[in-house]
Amino acid sequence: MQRNILFRVVALRFSQKRFYKKQVRVRFAPSPTGELHIGGLRTALYNYLYARSNDGAFILRIEDTDQLRVVPGAMEKLHDDLLWAGIIPDEDPIRGGPMGPYIQSKRLDFYSEQVLKLLNKKAAYHCFCTNLRLDILRREAIKSHQIPKYDNRCRHLSDEEVKEKLNKGVDHCIRFKLSETYDPFQDMIFGTVEHDISINEGDPVIIKSDGFPTYHFANVVDDHFMEITHVLRGAEWKVSTPKHLMLYKAFGWEAPKYGHLPLLLNKDNTKLSKRQGDIKVDWFRKTGIFPLALINYITHAGGGFQRNQGSQQLYSYEDLIKQFDVTKININSTKLEPLKLQEFNKIEISNLLADKANHAFLISRVKKLVTSAFPNRSPEGGLQLEDSHILKVLQWVQNRITNLSDLVAEDLSFLWVIPTTLPDITEPKYFEIIDLLIIKLTEINDEEFVKMELSKFLKQFAKQNDVSFPTLMKIMRGLLSGLKDGPSISEMMDILGKNITIQRLKRLSLNNQSHGQAHTCHQLKF
Ligand code: GLU
Repeated sequence: MQRNILFRVVALRFSQKRFYKKQVRVRFAPSPTGELHIGGLRTALYNYLYARSNDGAFILRIEDTDQLRVVPGAMEKLHDDLLWAGIIPDEDPIRGGPMGPYIQSKRLDFYSEQVLKLLNKKAAYHCFCTNLRLDILRREAIKSHQIPKYDNRCRHLSDEEVKEKLNKGVDHCIRFKLSETYDPFQDMIFGTVEHDISINEGDPVIIKSDGFPTYHFANVVDDHFMEITHVLRGAEWKVSTPKHLMLYKAFGWEAPKYGHLPLLLNKDNTKLSKRQGDIKVDWFRKTGIFPLALINYITHAGGGFQRNQGSQQLYSYEDLIKQFDVTKININSTKLEPLKLQEFNKIEISNLLADKANHAFLISRVKKLVTSAFPNRSPEGGLQLEDSHILKVLQWVQNRITNLSDLVAEDLSFLWVIPTTLPDITEPKYFEIIDLLIIKLTEINDEEFVKMELSKFLKQFAKQNDVSFPTLMKIMRGLLSGLKDGPSISEMMDILGKNITIQRLKRLSLNNQSHGQAHTCHQLKF
C-alpha cells in the first residue's frame, strides 16, 4: 500500500515536471556570405537532430548584420541546400513563424530598443573614439608586444560629455562593458570551460556607427526573444560564449545551454578551407551524392551516436534521431573520411533502387545528369534515354559505381551516346557478316538476350561463319561503344538490350548503303 502511494506521488511529480518542461528550441544561424559547406551542414544537422529527438523546434535564422559581406541569393541557396539534405526548419524566413522576423536586418528596431536597456543600466556606453585613434592604439600595442585591444576610454565619459557629443552629432558606436570577473560555464560537449575574456579583449562594440548591431549583440538578443533553449555551434565560437553570457547577465535574462562542436578536419588533419570545392553541399549535390549518404558521412565521424563505429549500415533520419546523444560527441577534432562517403552512397543507390517508388525520381536524376554531360546531343540526336534503358543501366551499375556522376564518365559514355565513329574495316566480308549477325540477333528471344547466352552465341556465330572471333569483337566494340576498351561485348549487349544493340550494329550497313564500300572511321552526323 505504502509503495503504491509513493509510486503515485513520484508519477505525479514526473508528469508535472514534464508538463512544465520548456519546449526545446534550437536554431541554425548562418550568415548569408556564401554557400553552405559541410561544417555548416553538420551544425544544422546536429541542431535538427537535437530538436527532433526532444520533440522540440528547429529554427533557421539568417544573420546578415554584416551587410557588406552579404552575397545576393545566398540565403535562398542555403535554405534550398538544407531542404535537399532533409533538414526542414519549423520556423524560417520563408515560412515565417511566431517569433519572426527570422532575418536580422529586419529586426533592427528590436536591437535599438534592447540596447537602450543596457545604456540605462550603465552596462553599455557610447564610444566616440575615431578609427584613427583605434588604429594608433592597435599599432602601439603590437609594437610593445601587448595584446591589441580597446582601452575602454569612453567608459569614463561623464553623462554631460556624452550628451554634448551626441547633441553635436559626433560619430559614435555603442560598447558593452565587459566585467572583470568571469564565471566558467558548463558546455554540453566540452564540460567546464574557462576563458577570461577581458584579458584578451576591450569592451566590444554592440551597435556599430551605422546603427547595425554586431553579431554578438544581435545573436544574444535574438536567442532570447526566439526562446532558444540550447545552442549547438562550431567550436570557433567557444571563446565568444563568456561574452554572450555576460550580456545575458547584464540583461537579467536566462541564458541557453551551449554546446560547441569540435572542428571538422580533412583526413590529413588539415583544416577544411572554403577554397576547397569538395566541401560545399552544392558540390556533393552536383556529383550525384545522395542526401542520406552525406548525412551518414558527417555523423559517422566524430561520435554523438549510440552506434557501432565500424558499421557499414546506412542510418535513416529516424535511426539517427533515436541514436543522437550530445554527450557522446567527441571533444577531439573530427576527421572526415571521403572513402566512407563513397561507400555510403553506393549503399544508398542500391537502397533507392530496391524500392520501385523511387524509380521515377532516379530516372529523372539520370536524365538530367546525362543531358548536361552531353550538351551537344539530344534524344533525337543519338542520346539513349528511354526509361527502361536507364533503369536497366542502374541495376547493372549499382555495384560498380559510387556516384551517379560516374555514369557519365568517359568509359561508360557508350551507355547513353550512340557513337559517332565507325570501326576501321579492312576485310569487306565483315560488312556482310554484321548484316547476317543482325538477322541472327533478331531471332533471339528477349529473355535469352543476356550476357552468358550471348557469349556462347557469339563464339558459335564466329565459328559457323568462319570469321576471326577477335576481329569480330573489335568491330562490334567499335559499333557499340566507339571505344577501345570496356566491358565484354556480351555484357555490353546485355546492358544495352536487343533493340539498341541492333540499332547500333545497323549503323554499319546504313552507312554502307549511303556511302559505298570504303569505310574508315567516318563521322556520322546525328
Ligand atoms: N552567424 C554565426 C555563424 O555564421 C552564428 C554563430 C552562432 O551559432 O552563434 O557562424
